[in-house]
Amino acid sequence: MIIKPKIRGFVCVTAHPEGCAAHIQEQIDHVRAQGPIKDGPKKVLVLGASTGYGLASRIASAFGSGSATLGVFFERPSSNGKPASAGWYNTVALEEAARKEGLWARSINGDAFSDEIKQQTLDLIREEMGQVDMVIYSLASPRRTDPKSGESYRSVLKPIGQSYTANNLDTDRKRIEPITLEPATDEEIQGTVKVMGGEDWELWMEALHSAGLLAPGCTSVAYDYIGPEITWPVYTNGSIGAAKKHLRETAKRIDSLLKIERGRAFISVNKAVVTQASSAIPVVPLYISILFKVMKEAGLHEDCIQQIDRLFRTQLFNGQSVDFDEEGRVRMDDWEMKPEIQQAVKDLWPKVKTETIDELTDFEGYQQNFLKLFGFGLAGVDYEADTEIERGL
Ligand code: NAD
Repeated sequence: MIIKPKIRGFVCVTAHPEGCAAHIQEQIDHVRAQGPIKDGPKKVLVLGASTGYGLASRIASAFGSGSATLGVFFERPSSNGKPASAGWYNTVALEEAARKEGLWARSINGDAFSDEIKQQTLDLIREEMGQVDMVIYSLASPRRTDPKSGESYRSVLKPIGQSYTANNLDTDRKRIEPITLEPATDEEIQGTVKVMGGEDWELWMEALHSAGLLAPGCTSVAYDYIGPEITWPVYTNGSIGAAKKHLRETAKRIDSLLKIERGRAFISVNKAVVTQASSAIPVVPLYISILFKVMKEAGLHEDCIQQIDRLFRTQLFNGQSVDFDEEGRVRMDDWEMKPEIQQAVKDLWPKVKTETIDELTDFEGYQQNFLKLFGFGLAGVDYEADTEIERGL
């Protein structure tokens, strides 16, 4: 089948297997080029391992530290003549690359919020890994069913308390238009906290701990975002921010649990990057397009793999202590939040109009990154060639 991108709003409903494989190889090459990560993790569980920050964490673990990796995610294999989702092809390519290197890599595809997938994961760790010494929690989901009550919750991306109007980049039509977001109801805020807060991370860590599957000294990390004031109404002070607040509180409880065995749990605040999750947030694509321009000009541009590689080498496994901010978080958004970077973004923000998108932002870079998420636009891939869409894990 010849596969072309089919974009519907902020998702691409097709993905290219060879393109995804090339994207995986690019990330492996980046990690490899930095040399081995000394004293890195040996057995890693990544929750949300198929795309974005979770995928980068899996790649840095496997190809930087030679670790065995177990990835859990929710992806769609190909069916009825339709290509699989990008995360599926990413994982096929990652497992193949790992096998070539003699690295143990296994994956579980299903709802990580469910008891069933947790049990399958625990069984596989017990049977094949023994214990894990690192757990990365990188799920980003629009919904979750509580395994205890059976009730389903949805997460929303809305402000809290009052409506919010800001310029928004319609990435489909390449237009800047103001958007007004109505405030979230209490129920929507609670739903977002249920989905994107720390409850599920804690359930995972308690289950792993009770089953004796956490190695002494185990590290667990979840990812957070803060960003600039311009996006605070929709992010940090919005419904998703309420969920992240819950995630931070949860980190403290998990840290206490892991400390018993000399382990640790904390949050890493990462920079804004183009992922399937971030492209769905109103206003954020415009911010990212401006940020990319400013950070590229300053020689500070990073994507998921550069962020996570730097997190591993300069913080998690630096052979010394980790640098925390006043709230006990690691700040990998340090370059993004540099005052001169933020000032430059702030100066450009009001000037960006539909006519000046190309001149004042790196929308081209944004779009390239977006297409890359689905395996399109990678050098060396023949997109006119017939490709096999059915790839088994
Ligand atoms: P992403 O959409 O690329 O990845 C989400 C992952 O979660 C995928 O592997 C997906 O399969 C998995 N997933 C979703 N629902 C699932 C379910 N029910 N069961 C199992 N797996 C499921 O997202 P991302 O942007 O990499 O986000 C990961 C984390 O990083 C989030 O906590 C996010 O807030 C944080 N973060 C993102 C950014 C950014 O700019 N993208 C910045 C800072 C922090």
